Amino acid sequence: MRIAHIASECAPFAKTGGLGDVVGALPIAQAELGHEVSVWLPLYRQVWQAMDKLGIKPEIALDPFTIDLGFNRYQVGVLRVFLPGSLVPLYLVGSDPHFDRAEIYSKAKDGSDDGIVRYSLFVRAAMEGMKKLWQPPDVLHAHDWHTALAPMALRWDDPKDWVFNHTVSVLTIHNASYQGMYGSGAFVHLGLPRSAFGRTEWRGAINLLKGGVEAADAITAVSPNFARELMTPGGGFGLNPVFARRWQSVIGIVNGIDPKVWNPKVDTKIPHQYSVEELAKKRDNRRELLQIAGMNPDDPGFVVGAVGRLTEQKGYDMLFPVMHDLVNQGVRVIMLGSGDSRHEDSLHYFSSSAPGRFWGYVGFQDNLAHLIEAGTDSFVMPSRFEPCGLNQLYSLAYGTPPIVRRVGGLADTVTGYNGSNRWDASGFVFDEPSPFALRDTIMWARHCYHDPNLWTQLVRNGMTQDWSWHHSAQTYMNVYERVRAFRGIK
Ligand code: ADP
Repeated sequence: MRIAHIASECAPFAKTGGLGDVVGALPIAQAELGHEVSVWLPLYRQVWQAMDKLGIKPEIALDPFTIDLGFNRYQVGVLRVFLPGSLVPLYLVGSDPHFDRAEIYSKAKDGSDDGIVRYSLFVRAAMEGMKKLWQPPDVLHAHDWHTALAPMALRWDDPKDWVFNHTVSVLTIHNASYQGMYGSGAFVHLGLPRSAFGRTEWRGAINLLKGGVEAADAITAVSPNFARELMTPGGGFGLNPVFARRWQSVIGIVNGIDPKVWNPKVDTKIPHQYSVEELAKKRDNRRELLQIAGMNPDDPGFVVGAVGRLTEQKGYDMLFPVMHDLVNQGVRVIMLGSGDSRHEDSLHYFSSSAPGRFWGYVGFQDNLAHLIEAGTDSFVMPSRFEPCGLNQLYSLAYGTPPIVRRVGGLADTVTGYNGSNRWDASGFVFDEPSPFALRDTIMWARHCYHDPNLWTQLVRNGMTQDWSWHHSAQTYMNVYERVRAFRGIK
């Protein structure tokens, strides 16, 4: 089967979160199953930087061509590289005025940015590129609102482009809280016929995610629990009636881990590689991390790590009110993240008010993220919502039992220790979104940590689970096949 992924992130070239990890890994897993897979990504400034760092030289895939959209004509170019360690081509759509910027995404959340122009141009140019390369895919797989125009274009373009007659569309929802909402005047940028206006509009605005959900042949959510949550008022972020209307086409598939990148046996971003048989080496990573964090490396006390975007979603505002309480009781905390300035300020504040017990690094630092997974005793994710979550999967693989809230994919992937399930449990789970529930669960984890036999068992349970992409990649293939059969396409 020929599959084209079209997305706004793809690790290691452009990543702000889990979406990048998924788009960097799933296509390779699908190619390993014997399929012809390609990925399309905007040529951001960050992509040039990543190529420089990795020593990758792109080649010209297509001569510059023009795209007419709205009232404008844009010139774009397409370069090609390969996803590292694979033969999966990554096509990079270049338009400097749109993608050569300091940040991948604009910080504006009110629709005042030009995201709809940037990503409409990207989707239209990528689809034109597929045509020019004579590679119409069997499955066009879009991810989140940025590329939701792809299923809309396939379904609603008028006249339809016969080149895509045999193409079905899949839209994966990685995060429903970002929907791509713009004023209704922005509809012209999509290049869709007027008849599609009502399908893209939601509660007075153009809503790209809504349009994609209406148009896609199948919708996948990044965990079964998240798929259910999308249809509830609390989990659908206002789009729950739209998801509920399409409930038969919404399928939850848990993300996997890239075994070449997030695997303590081969991870070159940590100083000491280790496996479940060599847990002493995990302690060597711990020593190095504690030294970097200005903490006593010989202190055997419990060390908790956290890595993530500092946004409302991640629930760190539940951690900060109990931070002094935790560190006063001997828990040490290491955090890495960037995002909302009030959270960044909290990291600075605790670093200066509790040195040696709290260390917060503000920024995006991939190597440090790996070392925190490897070097802490437990990893905390108190998320308010979490479609899938990858960090808890990395924690399981790195022998760092996660402390998570029972939401979304966290509920699907972590089994909490309850005092009597030591052979099955892989971490610690709490329900109530409150600082006290979080604090009590961290203290419960610390209590368990001081029982070495129990702790080693929990570590082993997590490390011996298989979260590789293989299984999920196969499930995606089953979805593609079902959709093609449903549409009567062989
Ligand atoms: P989300 O997609 O909601 O951001 P996930 O847990 O699915 O959350 O994935 C987060 C990914 O982004 C992980 O690979 C994590 O290591 C990485 N990440 C997040 N923040 C940072 C940061 N400040 N520095 C380095 N890596 C980060």
